[in-house]
Amino acid sequence: MSNHILTIAEGRAEGLRKVSFELVNVAQQLAAALGGDVQGAVLGTNVGAWADTLAKTGMSQVYVVDDAGLANFAPESYTSALAAIITQANPSIVLFGATGWGKEVSARVAARLDWGLVTDCTVAQVVNGALVLTRPIYAGKAIAQVKAKGFPVMVSMRPNLVPPVEADKPAAPIQAVTVTLKEPRAKVIETVVKQKSKVDLGEASIVISGGRGVKGPEGFAPLEELADTLNAAVGASRAAVDAGWIDYTHQVGQTGKTVSPKMYIAAGISGAIQHLAGMSSSKLIVAINKDPDAPIFKIADYGIVGDLFDVIPALNAEIKKIQPG
Ligand SMILES: Cc1cc2nc3c(=O)[nH]c(=O)nc-3n(C[C@H](O)[C@H](O)[C@H](O)COP(=O)(O)OP(=O)(O)OC[C@H]3O[C@@H](n4cnc5c(N)ncnc54)[C@H](O)[C@@H]3O)c2cc1C
Repeated sequence: MSNHILTIAEGRAEGLRKVSFELVNVAQQLAAALGGDVQGAVLGTNVGAWADTLAKTGMSQVYVVDDAGLANFAPESYTSALAAIITQANPSIVLFGATGWGKEVSARVAARLDWGLVTDCTVAQVVNGALVLTRPIYAGKAIAQVKAKGFPVMVSMRPNLVPPVEADKPAAPIQAVTVTLKEPRAKVIETVVKQKSKVDLGEASIVISGGRGVKGPEGFAPLEELADTLNAAVGASRAAVDAGWIDYTHQVGQTGKTVSPKMYIAAGISGAIQHLAGMSSSKLIVAINKDPDAPIFKIADYGIVGDLFDVIPALNAEIKKIQPG
């Protein structure tokens, strides 16, 4: 068994996604416990800058496939590129983000290389030399601990659960990996970008979420105004999404996004376990609810019993008064 832990970076037009740096954090902890080193992989088209950034996170080596064939997402091509990197790097553990992208490619690469894959994990640790993964199951109602039979093994980790490492260390060497990509049988021919909120929900430091208590699509307006004031992202419970009041991309929870902001404001959300699964690791939780017995108050640091349509505008007005400029 080699002692390399390989993290697979994920990027988009703006640059590497935060999850890429969170994976390095997880990998560093595993490497410390197993006595190994951390390596990284970057793939795409014109991704030199991504590789340079990843190389500064304290790893020992970065592998890159920079190929025009990876310009548009084609799962087959990405699978081939990743398989080539993993074969060359020969790691004992490969870490993916449990994002839409990570879920798609990790399953394919694991099948291609005939490795085990443990998906959607929240904790990865070494116990008596074995890799033990924690993963919520049955929509978060139970937590499974899975022991990998051995190495090598692939793991996908949920985003937003550990701090990202900084890219401020001396740069590691970058090695180009060449791969001959076949014309994929299926490829993305057009990307239609949905109307995006100003601040990315998955990476925002403040999230303001609305639930059934907002009562309709227009009920999100006061939340959006407060979000503008605080430079926050707007989230939602599944009840609000299922009612068609806000797009699914805003859903927080077991079947939505996992967020871990500095502050999470839950307005008109009761606090069902499936919602908590996506936000309970937030650093500070503020709940606004008319019902003093709402379960959300059990995990809230600050609870405001009141009508969100009174509380949110009042909060917004007070915060604006103390904001500089
Ligand atoms: C397999 C599965 C997966 C799921 N995945 C998710 C998920 O990813 N995310 C998710 O959120 N849910 C998920 N759910 C649904 C979850 O179980 C709850 O049904 C949902 O979270 C409830 O949403 P809510 O809190 O907005 O609505 P409710 O439970 O109806 O709560 C509304 C709250 O608003 C309060 N309220 C009403 N009016 C006001 C007002 N004017 N001011 C202040 N408070 C007010 C009420 O007191 C109440 O507490 C899932 C369920 C299942 C079975």
